[in-house]
Amino acid sequence: KNLVVAIDGPAGAGKSTVAQLAAKQLGYTYIDTGAMYRAVAWKTLQQGQEVTDELILEVVKNIDVNLQYADGKTKVTVDGTDVSAAIRTPEVSGIVSQVAALGPVRVKMVDLQRKMAERGGVLMDGRDIATNVLPNADVKIFLTASIEERAQRRWKELQQKGYDMTLEKLQQDIAARDKADSEREISPLVQAEDATLLDTTGLSIDEVVARILSMCQ
Ligand code: C5P
Repeated sequence: KNLVVAIDGPAGAGKSTVAQLAAKQLGYTYIDTGAMYRAVAWKTLQQGQEVTDELILEVVKNIDVNLQYADGKTKVTVDGTDVSAAIRTPEVSGIVSQVAALGPVRVKMVDLQRKMAERGGVLMDGRDIATNVLPNADVKIFLTASIEERAQRRWKELQQKGYDMTLEKLQQDIAARDKADSEREISPLVQAEDATLLDTTGLSIDEVVARILSMCQ
């Protein structure tokens, strides 16, 4: 079976971690749509100017964002440069919701995302996959967890990468991003009516992956 699987949810719910593992088990391609918006945000910051909607729109006009999934890893390039690690910084996270709220940015990214899902056998994660990008997906999952647990998970990740940030600050940042993503006009973050809610609070990664796999049977 070459299913199309959509996984949406707020920041830090563990979407990419479990989606990558589930994709590997299924032999599917994993598509991290958040990475694409992050790539646009990264290039915007590279301009070294004040971040305005105008600047973002200028950047998105000429950007070449490419996602490759190989050996269980996602490689993201911007105009040929590997930015896979560079797009995961708090600076990028800080402006990505502003970037993702702009219509022309979404049109370009959603178009690429739909093309990548054309042949099926894909597991795509994001905020608007079930509601907007792939409304006919075979499996729709809304993954969430308590804000405390989501902040804790992201904090551990950032600590490992050497970022020094308090848990409180990170929790505030995540809550602000969820609010912006949920309240924007175009394709806001919302659970699709036909999506299955999966609350991962207190669940291990393996348990979450097992539940996703059982939904894909
Ligand atoms: O998933 P991740 O946290 O990397 O996503 C980064 C940001 O990209 C989100 O906070 C949201 O603003 C945007 N995004 C989006 N639509 C998607 C995926 C991500 O607007 N499908």
